[in-house]
Amino acid sequence: MDFRLTDEQLEIQQMVRKFAQNEIAPLAAELDRDERFPAETFRKMGELGLLGLLVPEEYGGAGQSVLTCCVAMEEIAYACLSTALSYLAHAVLCTHNLACNGSEAQKRKYLPGLVSGAQLGALAMTEPGAGSDALSLETFAERCDGAYALSGSKTFITNAPVAATFLVYARTDRQAGPAGISQFIVERGFSGFSVGQPFQKMGVHGSPTAPIFMDSCRVPQENLVRGENQALSILLKGLDVERATGASMAVGAARSVLDRAVAYAKERQQFGQPIAMFEMIMEKLANMSTELEAARLLVHKAAVLCDEGIPCSLEASHAKLFSSEMAVRAASEAIQILGGYGYMREFEVERVLRDLKMGTIGGGTSEIQRLIIAREVLKRGRT
Ligand SMILES: Cc1cc2nc3c(=O)[nH]c(=O)nc-3n(C[C@H](O)[C@H](O)[C@H](O)COP(=O)(O)OP(=O)(O)OC[C@H]3O[C@@H](n4cnc5c(N)ncnc54)[C@H](O)[C@@H]3O)c2cc1C
Repeated sequence: MDFRLTDEQLEIQQMVRKFAQNEIAPLAAELDRDERFPAETFRKMGELGLLGLLVPEEYGGAGQSVLTCCVAMEEIAYACLSTALSYLAHAVLCTHNLACNGSEAQKRKYLPGLVSGAQLGALAMTEPGAGSDALSLETFAERCDGAYALSGSKTFITNAPVAATFLVYARTDRQAGPAGISQFIVERGFSGFSVGQPFQKMGVHGSPTAPIFMDSCRVPQENLVRGENQALSILLKGLDVERATGASMAVGAARSVLDRAVAYAKERQQFGQPIAMFEMIMEKLANMSTELEAARLLVHKAAVLCDEGIPCSLEASHAKLFSSEMAVRAASEAIQILGGYGYMREFEVERVLRDLKMGTIGGGTSEIQRLIIAREVLKRGRT
């Protein structure tokens, strides 16, 4: 067991940290206020090689691991959670998923645009009637003369307003339950495909979210990924990677609020001394620091298991549940440490708290993570 990152990972961490502090952090408040997607940042991330971090080099990517992606994600989220969420949907949920499961022809056709950022990506699983119970999805793909006609709708889709390439889960067998699900690559321009009005959200205002609609949307047969009724394992493995990398967003944001709280506590004087000298403030900082470190270890463990191809739904759920709830606690405590200023927009911690709440819902709610963990613990009988 080695807790140190490799030299290459440390280099990538430094590179992303510098980019995030120079290019991403300065925009964060504006994106929140104006509800604006940072297209220019994604262009620059494409040039830097960040959009294809997880894509093999033969398709123009950087060929890095899920662990390295978590390290990069922590830095992006430290600077701006909106940017991090849209990056997650593009680079992990869509691009990495396609790199893992697409055919040679699909990868040659779609990955270069996703890696450069010429095309942005999204993944569409959730439906109005199938959220936590995702496997009950009803979007149906019917075969018709050498193509499929997809009908149904998806909701809460990150990047839908800006994406060109969508990975869509649809049912190809109505009787087969979870074993009747397939995955399709759907282009925004396909006939019968449309994107609804973006949602107005509590947080992550810079990461656009919208429903999509498919009305006999014609998808060529060659855009079926793997084969009919083959998507259950893709979906489940994808969720493990999503939960590990998504949890690293929470770690990055928690680190940012801890740093702000520490700086403020050292600076702010009350009763003739810095508030950092008060034991109740020290206790908060100690708890935040300890929980942050524990969360990062859970995230890195889940990421390493993903990289080694070891089934890790338990570890991914541990990481997601603990990190997302830890980060909400940390942001709330940071606001408390900043007192009245913490409640003011100018100090930005309130934005991070609003943004972070999404982490306990998206990618599977905290309740669903607890269900997965409890079922696994009960199945194993001993830990
Ligand atoms: C900002 C944002 C971005 C998102 N991006 C995407 C995306 O890019 N692609 C995508 O496909 N989806 C996306 N989602 C959807 C997200 O994954 C779902 O919102 C989530 O899985 C919960 O589904 P739901 O909203 O339908 O809630 P529901 O499933 O209706 O849950 C409502 C409540 O009931 C609880 N509940 C449900 N079942 C159980 C149970 N068995 N036991 C105990 N409690 C239960 C839930 O925990 C929750 O508290 C996004 C969501 C948000 C908020």
